[in-house]
Amino acid sequence: MVKLSGGCLCGSIRYTILQQPILAYTCNCRFCQKDTGTAYRSALAILNENVELIGKDFSVYTYKSVEHGRELYKNFCPDCGTTISLKTERFPERQVIMIGTLDDPSQIELSTHMFAEEAFDWVEFPKDHVVYPRHRINDDGTTASPIE
Ligand SMILES: [Zn+2]
Ligand SMILES: [Zn+2]
Repeated sequence: MVKLSGGCLCGSIRYTILQQPILAYTCNCRFCQKDTGTAYRSALAILNENVELIGKDFSVYTYKSVEHGRELYKNFCPDCGTTISLKTERFPERQVIMIGTLDDPSQIELSTHMFAEEAFDWVEFPKDHVVYPRHRINDDGTTASPIE
């Protein structure tokens, strides 16, 4: 694979991705809208052991979801505030890296979208992409069905 690397705006935190990410996706849920301050999160799901961090330690903000009661951990640069990644209580073995922080985001192909139910009215999904009404993994661990 092509080597993926990235970092925050000011350069205090850098990272290298060592193995192919599990998935590239957007999430249109209210949490991701609020957290990113924009329409949706675009992110790579990746196993923790495949992310190598260089530089300063993250500042971490812990958010307890009112919807499902689980915690989410937002990792951001203490100097410039850029959100680099997010970890979750639900999937402790993996994290999501924000695609916008890559040095070359054009290396990423993305065709999966989640939480279409909560997407802004003006967000459109390409016809050949896979779009889920909510999360792609149900609360009971089964795989959700995409929208036809
Ligand atoms: Zn920074
Ligand atoms: Zn979300």
